[in-house]
Amino acid sequence: MTGQLHNPKQKCVSIVVPVYNEAEVLEETFERLRSVLRETGQRFEIVFVDDGSKDGSRELLESIQAAHPQVVVVLLSRNFGKEYALTAGLDFACGEAVIMIDADLQDPPELIPQMLDKWQQGFDVVTMRRVKREGETVAKRSSAWLFYRLLNRISDVDIPPDTGDFRLLSARAVRAIRQMPERVRYMKGIFAWIGFEQTEITYERSSRAAGRTKWGYLRLFRLALDGITAFSTVPLRLASYLGFITAMLAFAYGVWTIIKTLVYGDPVAGFPTLMTSMLFLGGVQLMAIGLLGEYLGRLFTESKNRPHYLVSEVLRDESASAGAPDDTSPE
Ligand code: UDP
Ligand code: MG
Repeated sequence: MTGQLHNPKQKCVSIVVPVYNEAEVLEETFERLRSVLRETGQRFEIVFVDDGSKDGSRELLESIQAAHPQVVVVLLSRNFGKEYALTAGLDFACGEAVIMIDADLQDPPELIPQMLDKWQQGFDVVTMRRVKREGETVAKRSSAWLFYRLLNRISDVDIPPDTGDFRLLSARAVRAIRQMPERVRYMKGIFAWIGFEQTEITYERSSRAAGRTKWGYLRLFRLALDGITAFSTVPLRLASYLGFITAMLAFAYGVWTIIKTLVYGDPVAGFPTLMTSMLFLGGVQLMAIGLLGEYLGRLFTESKNRPHYLVSEVLRDESASAGAPDDTSPE
């Protein structure tokens, strides 16, 4: 136990770490976090959110918590996904500033003092922008690049490219996020949407310390779709534009055919044109219906109004949690 823990005047900083099958790195992550935090001299708590791990991460977290009173462990009832694990972490964090960091050490804990500096200067959101993506394939890098350019062109918020969920939030930013009820949680969009005083720090992102990424291409694609549909309705309008343009082209083509038939007669019935236009229109229609479906599906998810996540257990040292929320089950 650190001596700083008992200085009630000092503000407390919470570190939120989502954990899903990270047994290989957990201890190292914790040790590095702890030594960095100790050096800052801040009062701190580390909130580990176990997102239904099946590889012994749970047991590891339990033993870390038992030995260290500054650690809070929130065990979710199953794997809900990183966005929900983060939401849970934000709900349980009780610091004046909250830093979200990945468990795999891809976000270097050594940057925390810089983030705290910015916070002390009065910033509410400190976003970490990576300048290099080590250990990632060219395909992943370029698809990420393309996605952010696209999303920012068509959405109503400005989502900084090349950022992850590694960032610092002030207490009022956290309160703002807790107010956002949406089920489809695209966190990067949410962080940008809340506004307040935002700033950026750039850093070099390293490869995972151990284990492997849980984000296959399919999952990344789904995340991209969530991001776009949650923060933009442009695709819906796109369907109408496309329909309008096609209709105009078809009309012009019709006029041209009539004139052609009047002038030259109609020697052969236009089977190829018929086929192409039918296929083309069929494609456009299916696409438009698919788009509607995407939004409808999300509307359906929202309307069910389910809780974001379910907690099976919270482990914390009661004597150490000076500023803990009195309610352990948010919502
Ligand atoms: N994570 C999680 N739930 C999931 C998937 C991932 O809590 O369903 C956590 C994971 O333990 C890690 C962070 O989210 O701390 C980032 O995951 P990962 O390293 O797989 O993503 P990447 O760095 O490749 O974006
Ligand atoms: Mg990672």
